[in-house]
Amino acid sequence: MQIRFLGTGTSDGIPTFLCSCPVCTSPNPANKRLRSSLLITKENYTVLFDTPPDMRYMLLRYRIPDLDAVFYTHPHYDHIAGLDDLRSHTLINKKPLEIYIHRRFNRDFKRRFHHIFHPLQTGGGIIKINYHNFRDYTQIKAGPFCIKTLPVWHGKLEITAYLVNNKVAYINDVSMIPEAVFAALGQPEILILDMLRIRPHSTHFNFEQALDAARKIGAGKTYFTHIAHEIEHEKVCAMLPAGMELARDGMVIDL
Ligand SMILES: [Zn+2]
Ligand SMILES: [Zn+2]
Ligand SMILES: [Zn+2]
Repeated sequence: MQIRFLGTGTSDGIPTFLCSCPVCTSPNPANKRLRSSLLITKENYTVLFDTPPDMRYMLLRYRIPDLDAVFYTHPHYDHIAGLDDLRSHTLINKKPLEIYIHRRFNRDFKRRFHHIFHPLQTGGGIIKINYHNFRDYTQIKAGPFCIKTLPVWHGKLEITAYLVNNKVAYINDVSMIPEAVFAALGQPEILILDMLRIRPHSTHFNFEQALDAARKIGAGKTYFTHIAHEIEHEKVCAMLPAGMELARDGMVIDL
């Protein structure tokens, strides 16, 4: 199994438009982050987690040859709005994308992508999808993957975290993990977890909260993601205990 971080930034990305802070103006490539997205591949089957607005650039930058399924964490703009950039994939590879999102987001998702679900006319290159809704605590079989759906809180919004093949946990945009989810996670090999910034935030883990949750989960290795421009890569990496690090755009993990 191979994991690739396509993006590790928060909703604004880094550099942030019009910001002249030391991180946004840093020459260090580790301080440049596209919006968060993760790609996991096994036996030529590729699953994408979220389609941020940087999607087209990500696909070209990392020369992604093929995709099979997209699993959404939640329908915030920074996690969904690149979906139409996958249109050429369905045209050229001539296969629909399997799209998975929690049933609570069904109406919101269909409203945002009205043109896909209710096309005005045929032609015009609308992306071809097979659309699936799921519930919490279900296991979805997708190619060689068994993907568990786990509910976590993102402020007042309940969203989806994923556990892939009982090995890789992806918990993005989170401010509270229920005890039942800690129990369901077990002790994964890899944990990928939200760490927005140092100061507290109402809808995301900050540094301390992310560290506390990561210690409690006790994964073999923890990578933090969805990072804002208050976090300078080298400085904050040096503050992390062994077995934990900040993810970087383009980082690849082979399992
Ligand atoms: Zn986000
Ligand atoms: Zn900045
Ligand atoms: Zn969000």
